[in-house]
Amino acid sequence: MKEHATPCYLYDSELLDRTLWEIGKRRDENQYVHYALKANNNPQLLDVIQKHGLGADCVSGGEIRQALDAGFAPERIFFAGVGKADWEIELALEAGIGCFNVESIPELEVIAAIAKRMGKTAPVALRINPDVDAHTHHKITTGLSANKFGIDLAMLHDAIALAHRLENVEFKGFHFHIGSQITEMQVFANLARRINEIQASLSEEERPSMIDVGGGLGVDYENPEENPVADFKGYFQTFREHLHLYEGQTMHCELGRSVVAQCGVLLTKVLFVKQSSQKQFVICDAGMTDLVRPAMYGSYHKCKNLTAEQERVIGTTNMHRSLHRYDVVGPICESSDVFLTDYEMPETRRGDILCFCSAGAYGETMASEYNSRPLPGRHIY
Ligand SMILES: *Cc1c(COP(=O)(O)O)cnc(C)c1O
Repeated sequence: MKEHATPCYLYDSELLDRTLWEIGKRRDENQYVHYALKANNNPQLLDVIQKHGLGADCVSGGEIRQALDAGFAPERIFFAGVGKADWEIELALEAGIGCFNVESIPELEVIAAIAKRMGKTAPVALRINPDVDAHTHHKITTGLSANKFGIDLAMLHDAIALAHRLENVEFKGFHFHIGSQITEMQVFANLARRINEIQASLSEEERPSMIDVGGGLGVDYENPEENPVADFKGYFQTFREHLHLYEGQTMHCELGRSVVAQCGVLLTKVLFVKQSSQKQFVICDAGMTDLVRPAMYGSYHKCKNLTAEQERVIGTTNMHRSLHRYDVVGPICESSDVFLTDYEMPETRRGDILCFCSAGAYGETMASEYNSRPLPGRHIY
């Protein structure tokens, strides 16, 4: 095992490559994939993803810059988000991006006004809140009418009429994104059927050329080794079967997590093992500042003691480690800085190297310097 300063992220470019091949193999010609940069904007990963021909899905001006720097063609860049600042809209128009995914009528009016001032035409898709339950964690559910995202169905006709009427706007599509870490294909089938209903209720002139179904395909956090590649086959098949596209329409999707989650792990070193009256704590040098998902969403990341595994491989029989239950925690001054509770692991000692699996998505991008901590390192193989 090569020595790395911890905590740090390690990325497996071979697995990323394999994942992208699978996407390429499973999608149809008219199913276009845009990678959601917010899952991981590491430039080396972006380079690989861009070379596989994916477009980019951005949620800020900064991400649009990163996508352009990584070589994504401007017309393959989509810009989503409930709160786009004027400078971000200007930057996107200047770059000539492929589509603004618009989330409200006031936003549509502002984009039109800025485009007019700049002498440009803004391609837009209307993000519709379809009121479909993603059956995922409530903090990553976005497609219910109680969520802040998208345009309410009741206002759809007005929004379409406005998009047609506004001079510096080209109405191109509908956009949907109902949530993240969705593993039941039934949920995507429900979304597809809902989109069909919405489209059927519209006149031919009201129907745009692009149907963007958003992202949200989940990965297997429980068994990352057995299932390193997400179910792209089932995903594209579900839309092929259930989404009705009218003549000339293309389907677009914005996958983030499913592209990068499994190709990254977070390495950390054990600082102390501490016994309290009720529990045993493994205190490691990575904390919620490096990987916030457990603290923020109660998410599970499988943890492996690599030092113990290596001993097993080498076959040092006198080093047998019995199984123990630990709370694996970080060093941050917050009670929520807990990765795992009552987690069974081989006896763990100071200096052991642990690895949190499936940390490639929403890991490094969410890292912070809270507690004046340095950001985690990163290495790509
Ligand atoms: C976050 C996000 C995505 C990507 O979601 P994943 O669950 O990572 O696939 C796609 N589209 C929009 C609009 C998003 O906000």
